[in-house]
Amino acid sequence: MSGGFLNQRPLEKIEKLKQQRKAVILAHNYQPGEIQDLADFCGDSLALSRKAAQTEAEVIVFCGVLFMAETAAILSPEKTVLLPDKYAGCPMADMITAEQLVSLKQKHPDALVVCYVNSTAEVKAESDYCCTSSNAVELVESLPKDRQIIFVPDQHLGRFVAERTGRELILWPGYCITHVIISEEDIKGAKVKYPDAVVMAHPECSEPVKGLANQLLSTGQMLNFAGESFAKHFIVATETGIIHALKKRNNEAEFIPASEKAVCPNMKKITLDKIIIALEEMKYKIEVPEEISVKARKALDRMVEVLPAR
Ligand code: SF4
Repeated sequence: MSGGFLNQRPLEKIEKLKQQRKAVILAHNYQPGEIQDLADFCGDSLALSRKAAQTEAEVIVFCGVLFMAETAAILSPEKTVLLPDKYAGCPMADMITAEQLVSLKQKHPDALVVCYVNSTAEVKAESDYCCTSSNAVELVESLPKDRQIIFVPDQHLGRFVAERTGRELILWPGYCITHVIISEEDIKGAKVKYPDAVVMAHPECSEPVKGLANQLLSTGQMLNFAGESFAKHFIVATETGIIHALKKRNNEAEFIPASEKAVCPNMKKITLDKIIIALEEMKYKIEVPEEISVKARKALDRMVEVLPAR
């Protein structure tokens, strides 16, 4: 199949292959800029999950990491979901196994379980509700006040939700290796250079970093906020891929990454060449075993239904 494409540029090749395969390309806000630009839809986990559930395409090429492609496969079981690099995983998602969650549930048999979407399909299958950073607060607020809540795997998002909702959560000590790289000193240093800047931090950041932020927002919320703000400078405490999307949304402001080191190596594994190979060879197909998919779907349906805060 590739022979006829030898003289074509990557973007043209991808466009043709997309049409042949009846495919749609979904990209997370942390993807490299060139991939965000070629995607049919770019967004945060919640927006991408909704898109995956609604699309009429036959094939979804997921430019993100494994848990996102698994989520798309669970929400759209009749579609073929491709992850262009099979090693694009998420270390945070791998910080809790289904077995560990089951034993935590045994210690708290009356608790409801909320898992962050950054989790494996097996962990979602053991959870009552799933959430993203866009709607975690609303989701926890909607739960009965007399029930204990286990929140996995991200302790930092969990603490943010506990603070916003006033609920005590049973937390798992997971974290995002990319967000915890951002330090208090990074924020303070950037504030010296840009004293008028608005600091936007993702809830996956450490508590001292969040303590220095003006706004705690998911990536989708950052895009909305910066798009409507009249501020001229923003210090952005999340994965640096979002800067590309922020500049597209508001080209009059300057967006300063809190740390140039906040780069998720897994998100950056997706390349144009790998997207071409994915579409040519229909790989890597992400399939979730039915017994897990059916159970995980219940938690995910609840996530997709809860509206995020703007
Ligand atoms: S940024 Fe963090 S949470 Fe997101 S995929 Fe990378 S490691 Fe996982």
